[in-house]
Formats: sequence, structure tokens, C-alpha cells
Amino acid sequence: MAVRSEISVRTIRAAVLRRRGAPLRIESLLMEGPRPDEVLVRIAASGICHTDIAMRDEWEDADGPVVLGHEGAGVVEQVGWKVGSVKRGDHVVLSYQSCGRCAACRRGRPMDCRRLSDLNFGFQRLDGSNALARSGVRGHFFGQSSFATHSLATERNLVKVPKSLPLELVAPLGCGIQTGAGTVMNVLKPPAGASIAIIGVGTVGLAAVMAARLAGAGPIIGVDIRANRLKLAKELGATHAIRPPRQEIASCVKAITGGGVDYVLEITGRPELLRLAIDLLNPRGTVAIFSGERAPDSLGGGRRGVSIVEGDSVPQQFIPKLIALHRTGCFPFDRLIRYYEFRQINRAIADAKRGVAIKPVLRMRGLKGDPARET
Ligand SMILES: [Zn+2]
Ligand SMILES: [Zn+2]
Repeated sequence: MAVRSEISVRTIRAAVLRRRGAPLRIESLLMEGPRPDEVLVRIAASGICHTDIAMRDEWEDADGPVVLGHEGAGVVEQVGWKVGSVKRGDHVVLSYQSCGRCAACRRGRPMDCRRLSDLNFGFQRLDGSNALARSGVRGHFFGQSSFATHSLATERNLVKVPKSLPLELVAPLGCGIQTGAGTVMNVLKPPAGASIAIIGVGTVGLAAVMAARLAGAGPIIGVDIRANRLKLAKELGATHAIRPPRQEIASCVKAITGGGVDYVLEITGRPELLRLAIDLLNPRGTVAIFSGERAPDSLGGGRRGVSIVEGDSVPQQFIPKLIALHRTGCFPFDRLIRYYEFRQINRAIADAKRGVAIKPVLRMRGLKGDPARET
């Protein structure tokens, strides 16, 4: 039945950012697509990631209204004619986007994609078009803009998941959890008994704590200013917790290990903590940073810095691995999640900023996408 040249247009509901730092407003928008290589996904749930909040707070108003969200999960509703790996009705998790054509993508390293920034932060397709243009809004954030009832993704950022798992559970695997677990499992690969400090135990840090425990690392030292997060870190595998400013980080680490640590994840992005993280390193130790900036290659004494993008993960390989670990009970990431209805998106963001919610996940149910069908 599909007519190859036909591009359909539908009405969706999406949370729109119109002014820097302002509340997101759920509006009806017109979305065209899917194009031949795209997949239309009806979003069931979306995690809220630190990057969404940072974008809301730093967005330049002059760049125009946008739809954020990049931890979507949902059901495939329609596929373009070039799409072969998923079909209508499949359950999928959405992750970061890559081009599939550059040298890094062809080598199987989408996290190094040459177009990574354009595809994930460009708010448009690579050809400059935009599926939400009819409404004067821009989407395609991380190849998804999942704060919406519908997203357009491609085979490159979709991961098929078993229908037996709730979509609202697996949604946050697409970014923060993959980043934290992947940093430990794909990049640092600490040997059993290696010491590791994790500065900032939000979603990324807690996923790293669970992965460090799986690797048999120890001591595993969680550092955070919030007591509730440190408590959870200890329940998930941290052997020690340090809470600045009441406790001085360097002296506490020394008391625990007798020296420094072999690995540090500096997740807060604060320059003074990066300096401290480097000082904490044992000779030949590694510090992982997440700010998007290049890590200093050599830090003296054989120590090194690595800059992490999405935990060095190939989503189609790594997310199924995390789901399998969750099934065995070894990776209980569900304990990070707090659920909100889509209309509560601004409260969810506020709760995340205040540290009340570690991983807010929005449920889109009850929003039909077509306002005519809503009361
Ligand atoms: Zn690429
Ligand atoms: Zn993210």
C-alpha cells in the first residue's frame, strides 16, 4: 500500500522550549515523515537526562523553539521503505544518533562519528530539513526529541527490545545509564581489586558504581554532596561514601586506600574537582571526564585522562547486554527511576535539579498525539 514518494503529516504533542530556562509547554505540532530511512516511534516513556536540563537552561532564545528529550522508548508505528531491521509494532529504545557513513561509523565506532555534534545537537537532519518545520519548531535532538508523543529515529539510533519489558523501565538506558556503565565496562575495564572513585553519583555515577561492582573493583568510593544519593550508591555497590564539604575528599580517600586510587570518574564537570581527581590518581591511573571537552592525554607519572562519549557504547550491542544483566539482578538500574506523567515534566525537571529524583522518567500514556481524539 505504501506510496514511496508520499510523506505523511500528523499532529503530535510535544514539550516545547520557547525561552531559555522557562517551563516547557506541551503543545500540538505538525510532524512530517517518516522519510525513507526513518522510523516513526510512538513514545511510551522518556527519561530526563542532565543534558536536557542543561540545554533548557543554556539555550539561546534566538535559535528558536525546540523539542528536547533523548532517552525515549516506544513502539514502532511506521517505517520508511529503506528500513529493514524494525517493523511496525516492535518495541524500541532510542539512543544517540550517528551518520553511518564516516570512517569511524564504518569501523563500528559510532561514538566517534564525525557528524556526532550535528546529528545530536543540530536540531535538524543532516540535509538541513526539519520534521517540525510546519510548526516553526525544531526537533531531531539526539535523532529523537523524545519529549513528545512521537519521534522520528533511524535504524542507527534504535535498539529493539523484548516486549516482555515495560518500556518505561528501559527508556533511560539510551543515554545516562549506558554512559556510566559503558565507561567502566567498555573503557576503564578495571581489574578485580582496582580502586575506583566516582565523583558525582547521579544516574551516570550510580550506573558506574553497579558496573564497578560487577567488575570486582574495590574499594568503590562514591563522592557526592547529597546524602540520599550516597545511601543508594552504597546499596548498589559502593564500599565507601564521602560527602563534601563536611568531609575532605583527598584525606578521606587516603584513609581508605592508604594512597590514591587507580581510576576516577569526574562526572560533575567542575574544574576544581577535575584538578582534585587528577591529584587522587595513583601512578598509571586513569581519570574519565564527561564534559565533552578533550581530556588531557598525559598527566605525568603515566597517568592519563580519557574523554567519554556515551560510555563508548554501540547501543545495539550494549543496551541488550545491560538488559540481560538487569534480568539476572546484577544491574538493578530500576532503583534509580522515579516516574512522572508527561504533563508533570516541569516538576520532574525541578525534582532532578533539587536532587529529589535521580532519574525521572516521563510516561506519555493518555496523550493520544491527535488532539481531536483528546477530550
Ligand atoms: Zn559517522
Ligand atoms: Zn543524556
